[in-house]
Amino acid sequence: MKNDTTVLVTGGSRGIGAATAWQCAQAGHAVAVNYTRDAAAADAVVVRIAAAGGQAIAVQADVSDDAQVSALFARIDRDLPPLAGLVNNAGVVDVPARVDEMSAARVQRMFAINVFGSFSCAREAVRRLSTRHGGRGGAIVNVSSVAARIGSPGLFVDYAAAKGAIDTFTVGLAKEVAAEGIRVNAVRPGIIDTDIHASGGMPGRAADSAALIPMLRPGRADEIAASIVWLLSPASAYTTGALLDVSGGR
Ligand code: NAP
Repeated sequence: MKNDTTVLVTGGSRGIGAATAWQCAQAGHAVAVNYTRDAAAADAVVVRIAAAGGQAIAVQADVSDDAQVSALFARIDRDLPPLAGLVNNAGVVDVPARVDEMSAARVQRMFAINVFGSFSCAREAVRRLSTRHGGRGGAIVNVSSVAARIGSPGLFVDYAAAKGAIDTFTVGLAKEVAAEGIRVNAVRPGIIDTDIHASGGMPGRAADSAALIPMLRPGRADEIAASIVWLLSPASAYTTGALLDVSGGR
């Protein structure tokens, strides 16, 4: 399959990012599958896409490191078709804690990856997509969270606040580049069945939370990916600055 456009999915090796990378490839894009530690998982996504006739590369970069983000985009410029979309998906949680128990280092890491990383990637994407810079336009989708709305008290207010920043970033950047051919939207997942809960010390969280969700089940990564791919596509051509809850009603 010949691809004319590329989508970068940060944190594309696992969970929501891996499902998004797959669906972007199914939609006809070449995909840059970014990861930071799990090269085997990223390679598995690339192999699956290639086996289906698509084009993908795995690119290691920590999105919280600005120089690594620049190198990530330079690699895409060199090895893939022109960028058309960015999915700012890479994100982390930490173990449950109250704010009065959180170290400064914890909060700084939370914002470095979940907020500053998205800023760095968006900067590089806008430089390539904006008609102001000679680009052909495109779309950015930021992966926020329902946590931005509910605050996650007693669990991870730092994470919720970082996602709140992503919401505001989405609204502001959307208006800033709306006349330059770029749409910017956010998806706010509810509780989705991925590895992220184990990384936050709560491996059973998705299944255990079913009763808290109006639809009585956690979501699947592919259900979030479908919304992201819609927001990247011409089917959402008049949608920008939107914060789309995909949360089973939560
Ligand atoms: P996940 O399964 O834990 O996967 C996280 C992904 O992010 C992995 O690909 C990981 O790469 C990558 N990553 C982590 N830190 C990174 C960094 N510094 N630089 C580059 N990549 C990095 O998480 P997920 O559940 O799919 O979450 C994806 C996004 O959805 C996050 O932004 C998360 O906050 C958001 N979200 C998730 C849920 C949920 O319930 N799952 C709910 C709301 C929002 P490696 O494989 O190399 O570690």
